[in-house]
Amino acid sequence: MPIQTVNPFTNKVVKTFEEMSEVTLNNLVEQSAKAFEKWKNTTYEQRAELLNNVARLLRERKSELSKTITLEMGKLIAQAEGEIELSANIFEYYAKHGATFLADKYLNPEFGKAYYKHSPIGTILGVEPWNFPFYQVARFAAPNLMIGNTVLVKLASLVPQCAIAIEQLFADAGAPTGVYINLQISGKRVSAMVSDTRIKGVSLTGSEEAGSSIAEQAGKHIKKSVLELGGSDAFIVLEDADIDQAVKWGIIGRINNNGECCVASKRFIVLEEVADEFLKKFTEKMKNLVIGDPMDPKTELGPLSSEAAAVHIAQQVKSAVDAGAKLLLGGTRSNREGAFMEPTILTDIKPENPVYYQELFGPVASFFVVKDEQEAIKLANDSPYGLGCSIFSSNIERARNIANHIDTGMIFINHPTWTEADLPFGGTKNSGYGRELSELGIQEFVNRKLIRISELSDPM
Ligand code: NAP
Repeated sequence: MPIQTVNPFTNKVVKTFEEMSEVTLNNLVEQSAKAFEKWKNTTYEQRAELLNNVARLLRERKSELSKTITLEMGKLIAQAEGEIELSANIFEYYAKHGATFLADKYLNPEFGKAYYKHSPIGTILGVEPWNFPFYQVARFAAPNLMIGNTVLVKLASLVPQCAIAIEQLFADAGAPTGVYINLQISGKRVSAMVSDTRIKGVSLTGSEEAGSSIAEQAGKHIKKSVLELGGSDAFIVLEDADIDQAVKWGIIGRINNNGECCVASKRFIVLEEVADEFLKKFTEKMKNLVIGDPMDPKTELGPLSSEAAAVHIAQQVKSAVDAGAKLLLGGTRSNREGAFMEPTILTDIKPENPVYYQELFGPVASFFVVKDEQEAIKLANDSPYGLGCSIFSSNIERARNIANHIDTGMIFINHPTWTEADLPFGGTKNSGYGRELSELGIQEFVNRKLIRISELSDPM
């Protein structure tokens, strides 16, 4: 894939970037490994200062950075601004809590003789997607830099100007040379880097294909990896739910980020008593979405991130219909310039249908009617993915009980799956392993080093 800014609203190429050569890449890995030797000896206060500076600059530059996101991947401008705020929150969160999370942990407090330290492990490689360019980098880089690791970041080829802007933020925030490095290379070259002995761990957010390629190399070379992959979140609506609220949140859950969210609400599973009402109201709202320029604050649904993404989802919808699914709304590309896809609702998707087990990454909702909550649980779990899930009910105890039976990494009651700095994020099954954000996210790339002190005694 060429490293290019292509505005998905017009499909016009804005700027093309050169890939880095192997020699440059090698030099940058060396720079990162060297920087680690100094960065690992800095104090938590020094690291927190860098993270707070990055957060401050993010806020100062919010307007221009948001426009770069929207230009490169089509996110609505208000959501791009929200992403910059969220990213700043993540840097501040780890600056504030990192030292506490990483404090020595005493194991036998009555004697105080054994404890473990959290030590940094070195240079960590982050391979990140285009759908939340700043947030994805924040949730990888902030905890790692707080630990004392250095980071090499390969952001998706669709968002090169975002990648450059982030590296510049770090430089302007006072990051020592080599602590944060942007790798301007295509995805097909990055897995080979995992074998480099100077790289000590790798984190990838993206597709299963890319995750599997990275994990294969990490396994072969015995390195820690974290994978945040795709999802097909169920959005369960019980008969006792507030239907109007469920519809409003369902629309947001489905079309936030123009539908290109790993944790978007993708499969709507509704109890039969309220299915007609929910579907009627949901369809009405999907039909009336204001589609257009993502820079225009009045737009509710923008283009997909690229022409290729729009072609792909239109093909998936066609294959679903060819295999017997029914179209309740949309179903084709929008009749306009740019990477647009009509808001679409599919029903009657049977397990034999190819899309039944696929992720639909765009404004396409799949709708299922079930007779009771047992059937809802069974259907929600009948997916290769296990990222997030939402349950709408006025009975919180009932929803909590259902949550206990759902096989995903995150479950939200009366809300679509969401993210905040202090909530752990990650999945099970083909959605990957490991966690980002919260205290858990700072525990992934550390050496928990046991230190045991004994009174000197005669072994005999
Ligand atoms: P993608 O093609 O896998 O790209 C993600 C990153 O991996 C990019 O930097 C890409 O580089 C790189 N890459 C591509 N092929 C690779 C390979 N064979 N080996 C190593 N790296 C490779 O994914 P995407 O289409 O951009 O993103 C959408 C997917 O990400 C969806 O499935 C979505 O659900 C998932 N996602 C998951 C989360 C989560 O937290 N679980 C969050 C966001 C997105 P290039 O751009 O240069 O190809």
